[in-house]
Amino acid sequence: MIFVLLLAALIVGFIISLQKGVFRNAANCHVCGVQLTGTEQNWVGYKNDLCLCNKCLDRINPLIKTYATQTWNYQDYINYINWDESSKEMRKQYKPNYSYGDNLSIDTEHNLFCVGDRYTDYYMIFNFSEIDDFEMNFRPEEIKEGIINDKLIGSEFVRVDLLTPKIHVEETLKENVKLKLKTTGFFKKEYDFQFTDEFLDILRVFSICLNIESQRRYGNYQQTGADIDEVQKALALFMFDSLDDVSKESLKKQRNALIKAFHPDNNESNETYSQKINAAYDLLYSMVYGNNQNMN
Ligand SMILES: [Zn+2]
Repeated sequence: MIFVLLLAALIVGFIISLQKGVFRNAANCHVCGVQLTGTEQNWVGYKNDLCLCNKCLDRINPLIKTYATQTWNYQDYINYINWDESSKEMRKQYKPNYSYGDNLSIDTEHNLFCVGDRYTDYYMIFNFSEIDDFEMNFRPEEIKEGIINDKLIGSEFVRVDLLTPKIHVEETLKENVKLKLKTTGFFKKEYDFQFTDEFLDILRVFSICLNIESQRRYGNYQQTGADIDEVQKALALFMFDSLDDVSKESLKKQRNALIKAFHPDNNESNETYSQKINAAYDLLYSMVYGNNQNMN
């Protein structure tokens, strides 16, 4: 009997010591070198060559901490810290002139945008030139298969990805949003959402900023000093969703169609209207092909 009790006590003791980390090797923070005790819960990316003390862990923005602790290695952490240091200037400059809900705002003058709520710790400011991937979309709470229903409830979100430093941030923009389905069918699994005008507006501003940056990055874009509002108006006039729709052919086709379809109810003179069309044409052309091109 005593033997059984002793054995049980040994087993329990062994399990407790395992949990307390007695048998785990002593470790040091990979960044500052401070020794971590066995019971510390600040292991990060343990399988990914990264181990941090609480102080070094706290330098990671709370908005991306979960993602960082799951996927970063040592070099990713260093890249992030360097980026974070250099982005302090962006935070000072930031003056948004567009916003959507609490979790997305854009500063078109400095080419910056903010994901998250600026009045908490949970926000990050990025330059459009840094973006490697992004998505702004609607996520339905549920889609009842087989039920024909033209209204959906869900949330709008934004996702931003950078490759260096490795950052993935995803924020809800609005919850409990009701959207109409453009088309739906009994067996149709693809849903075409009809977004609200407000959402489309912010998406358009975001796309234009990104578009300008990607063209700048790939050398196609020439500095026009264009106002985002002007570009938006020109796109709307030509009924384009984004600058991706702009080509020499599509521009010409749309310009001709607009001039032909001049509406008699319009109070402006024919001349003013065609001037507007031509100005929009020139602006969109210069956004995509630069200023010094043959516009014929
Ligand atoms: Zn440390």
